[in-house]
Amino acid sequence: MATIQQLSRNVLKQSSKTLFSKQGVRNCSAGYNFTLTDTEKEIQELARKFTKEEIIPAAAYHDESGEYPKEIFKKAWTLGLLNGHIPKHAGGLEQTSLTSGIIEEEFSYGCTGICTALNSTGLGQIPVIIAGTKEQQKKYLGRLIDEPLVAAYCATEPGAGSDVAGIKTTAVKKGNEWVINGQKMWITNGGVANWYFVLARTNTDPKAPVSKAFTGFIVDRSTPGVSVGKKEQTMGQRASDTRAVTFEDVRVPIENVLANEGDGFKIAMQAFDVTRPAIGATCTGLMQRCLDESSKYANERKTFGVPIAEHQGVAFMLADMAVGVELSRLAWRKGAWEYDNGQKNTYTASIAKCYSSDMANKVAADAVQIFGGNGFSKEYPVEKLMRDAKILQIYEGTSQIQRLIISRYIISRAKELQ
Ligand SMILES: Cc1cc2nc3c(=O)[nH]c(=O)nc-3n(C[C@H](O)[C@H](O)[C@H](O)COP(=O)(O)OP(=O)(O)OC[C@H]3O[C@@H](n4cnc5c(N)ncnc54)[C@H](O)[C@@H]3O)c2cc1C
Repeated sequence: MATIQQLSRNVLKQSSKTLFSKQGVRNCSAGYNFTLTDTEKEIQELARKFTKEEIIPAAAYHDESGEYPKEIFKKAWTLGLLNGHIPKHAGGLEQTSLTSGIIEEEFSYGCTGICTALNSTGLGQIPVIIAGTKEQQKKYLGRLIDEPLVAAYCATEPGAGSDVAGIKTTAVKKGNEWVINGQKMWITNGGVANWYFVLARTNTDPKAPVSKAFTGFIVDRSTPGVSVGKKEQTMGQRASDTRAVTFEDVRVPIENVLANEGDGFKIAMQAFDVTRPAIGATCTGLMQRCLDESSKYANERKTFGVPIAEHQGVAFMLADMAVGVELSRLAWRKGAWEYDNGQKNTYTASIAKCYSSDMANKVAADAVQIFGGNGFSKEYPVEKLMRDAKILQIYEGTSQIQRLIISRYIISRAKELQ
């Protein structure tokens, strides 16, 4: 059996070649096709092996201690399992969103907290990939390829999460610099990031349209005036580092503005077209784990003289879990596929995030139910899965906000057809 290092060498060698070869290329003209290419299968195998050998054995420790999984991050980085989506001119492999999702699903099978700790750097990077100049991309994305460093995405504030346009952080232009003041809240990787994407209000007119009032900046963590708060103690995904980040008279050169002044809101929202299908992949990995743990337990545990799997009430719960896994997998892959093929995917990205995160919470709660009293105990794996699942309905837009996006889309489409 191939070792992790051998698999990694193949993936790193082949990704750049076979993504564009006969076996590796995704043929888009024929429509949806989620059969994995040879390259995608290899990447999946590598991520699965890494999860089995590195993530699963460490998950309970990081859940208990809340310690950021620095060593696991470094190993994944070395093997080429992170940052694959970075463009080639910045040193990356320019992998598809589908490929990134395949890796996230595998990592999340092991621990969604560790997966978030490893992969949420992508959320910080995507605004730079969408809107950055080649120079910005080479400098900031290239740095993440050269060294095991991470980025973070700073939009939320103590007073504004769902209502992003309500943020109070400001940036004021002074000569060749912008001066940023404000506080961000709940920033994943807040304490470990090397640089941040920061959304700030740059138009002081309260009547300015949202589409013109905000600007996106790249801010080096080492800039004077940047400080981070204590690590938040969370209910689940405890391996992930979540903190407040404060900006006090932080001077940022004009070269660090993303696209144009006033484009920030659009860039910040567009990033979710990439990351929401990825959250769907995370949910799917968690659900697959719930299903595997529960079906194994249901075959072993006996009541009334038979394995509990033979009671229809339990068997049907397993069937509903399987429905959730399969449909979530299709939903996130569709959202990623549309993005990879240049289609506007905001609607399907929200459907993937909404459905799979709601379903992950149901599936995890059912897994605890199938384990009975043992499900409530830390000795068994499912209570952690239930705690970890909750945040999936909250970050990157709550389930209510996804429904807002989906309903707005269908209502406006209906109006167009009238
Ligand atoms: C662990 C963690 C990690 C995070 N990581 C990041 C990060 O890296 N970067 C970042 O910028 N942010 C991050 N966030 C912030 C996250 O995106 C917000 O918490 C989330 O968007 C919700 O915002 P809020 O907490 O302010 O809740 P609120 O916006 O105050 O919402 C409270 C409740 O009201 C509901 N609600 C609000 N408005 C509406 C509406 N119009 N219709 C119906 N219901 C509504 C919400 O769905 C929710 O149930 C993170 C949060 C957590 C907890």
